[in-house]
Amino acid sequence: AAKADGRGVHRFYSEDMLAGARSRKALEDDMRTALGEGGFELGYQPVVSTATTQIAGYEALLRWNHPVRGPISPADFIPVAEECGLIEALGEWVLRTACVQAARWPRAVRVAVNVSPIQFANPAFPALVTSALAHSGLAADRLELEITEGVFLDESGATDAMFKALKGIGVRLALDDFGTGYSSLGYLRNAPFDKIKIDQSFVRGAAQPGNRNAAIIRAIVTLADTLGMETTAEGVEVQDEIELIRRLGCSHIQGYVYGRSVPADQVVEQLGGVVQVAAVGHKVSRAPR
Ligand code: C2E
Ligand code: MG
Ligand code: MG
Ligand code: MG
Repeated sequence: AAKADGRGVHRFYSEDMLAGARSRKALEDDMRTALGEGGFELGYQPVVSTATTQIAGYEALLRWNHPVRGPISPADFIPVAEECGLIEALGEWVLRTACVQAARWPRAVRVAVNVSPIQFANPAFPALVTSALAHSGLAADRLELEITEGVFLDESGATDAMFKALKGIGVRLALDDFGTGYSSLGYLRNAPFDKIKIDQSFVRGAAQPGNRNAAIIRAIVTLADTLGMETTAEGVEVQDEIELIRRLGCSHIQGYVYGRSVPADQVVEQLGGVVQVAAVGHKVSRAPR
């Protein structure tokens, strides 16, 4: 808006805003460098089946240890990557890397990859998915793409075509962070999701007496079951929450209670042997061969 005002531009910028813009530009440059020099890594957080208590898959989460600033959260740098256009290249790196790494795992569990609405709006995205699967040798049904309600802001009709193309490839689709944002039930009517991920804000406090989150989770699970979709409860941190989530009927659990994200080589170890988990009495054991 400031730009449109032409000569009035400078009036609108305080010292703080300029400093913000400078550090943002620096962050952009650093992201480009990191992408070119192998500075990004993927962490993998286990997703556990409620029925079997075994690892059903992992969610790939971007990890960036900035050479000067230390670890930076994707919640902080992904929005910047989306604004400066770098998300396409970064997202491609994430997808290709996750497919290659998952193809090497000792068990054929799923890998979930977060996809930005900007990637999802690109008509070339299905070709990228096909290419990532072909180059890695990963079976399509092991790849789960996590998208948020942000993809539905595109009203051009391209979203429906994208869903069709991706289902045609055979990958799975998950609706991430459900219950936050826009949460129109119309999205569930028309979109071919295989899974709903219930946002961690609903899990927080749900196990406390009188908390209304449990009722909301129950309603989401009922809806998902009816529509033939799986449900993952995100952000499960304590044992009481495992018990509750199981009672409420979610098919999967993801959260610190079963472990934070780990580097790729540790996934191989986790899948090869018994996983040590914080939750007593809920060991995540390996699948029978
Ligand atoms: P998300 O996709 O909803 O991922 C789950 C986030 O919750 C992760 O944060 C994870 O570390 C955190 N989490 C998992 N269990 C717990 C728990 O028990 N308690 C708490 N408090 N948090 C838990 P993270 O890794 O910081 O990622 C934040 C967000 O950044 C992600 O949310 C996702 O939206 C975005 N993101 C991460 N990696 C990528 C990526 O490769 N591409 C894109 N487009 N976005 C990404
Ligand atoms: Mg996610
Ligand atoms: Mg989420
Ligand atoms: Mg989230």
